[in-house]
Amino acid sequence: MKKNKKIVIIMIIIIILEITIYQNRLLKKEIEVQASIAKQEKSEIQNQNEIKEEHPEIPGKTTDWELILINKENPIPENYKIELSNIENAHKVDNRIKTAIEQILADARKQGLQPYICSSYRTRNTQKTLYNKKVAQYRKQGYTQENAQKEASYWVAIPGTSEHEIGLALDIVSKKYQILDEKQESTQVQKWLIEHCTEYGFILRYPTLKKDITMINYEPWHYRYVGIENAKFMKEHDMCLEEYIEYLKKYE
Ligand SMILES: [Zn+2]
Repeated sequence: MKKNKKIVIIMIIIIILEITIYQNRLLKKEIEVQASIAKQEKSEIQNQNEIKEEHPEIPGKTTDWELILINKENPIPENYKIELSNIENAHKVDNRIKTAIEQILADARKQGLQPYICSSYRTRNTQKTLYNKKVAQYRKQGYTQENAQKEASYWVAIPGTSEHEIGLALDIVSKKYQILDEKQESTQVQKWLIEHCTEYGFILRYPTLKKDITMINYEPWHYRYVGIENAKFMKEHDMCLEEYIEYLKKYE
C-alpha cells in the first residue's frame, strides 16, 4: 500500500512537470509568433515610408476636374456639365483652359511658328459624323461592319468616349502641314509643342509607345489639358493619363 502511494505521488509529480514544460513551450512559441508579427508590421511601415519618401508630392487627385479620364472603358458621365468659351477661328474649349491654350499659341508664335487649331470642342453629333465617316472608309476597303468599327475606333473615338466632347482636348497642327499623319511630329510647330506643352498644362495624349494602354493610335497633334503640375509629373515619370490615374489611385 505504502509503495503504491509512493508511485502515485511520483507519477503526479511527473505529470505536473510535463504540464509545466508543455506550458513553457507554448508560451515561448506565442512570444516568437508575436515577435515575427511585430517584425512584419515594422517592415511594412518601412516600405510605405520608403514609397512616400520617393514621391513626397503627388500633384493630383483622381477627382480633379482636369484629370477626368475619358476612353473606351470610361465614357463621359451622363450628367457631365461643360461651360464653353470661344477661342480663335470659332473654336471652343472648356472655359477653364481658355487662358492656357491662348498662352501656348501666343508663345509658339513668338518663336516664329504657325500653330493652327484644326479641332477643339465637338458636339456628340459631330463626333458621330466623324466616327461614321471613318467606319465607312474601312467598309469600302472590304472590312466587315464589326472590324470596320474596331479599326475606326483607333483613329476616331467612339461617340461618348472622346475628350473633344468635354472641351479639354485640341488637335493642333502646323499651318504649313495640316495632314493628320505621323509626319506631323517632324514639323517645327509640333516639335516645339511636344517639348513645351507640359509647361502650359498640356500632354500629348496618345504617344506612340502607349497605344496598347490608350487604345488609340499615335496622334502627334492631340493635346489634352491636365494642369501644369500633373503634366510635368507625367512627363517626368513617362506616364500616359491611364497610367497616371492608376498611380494616383494607389495613394488615395
Ligand atoms: Zn484629337
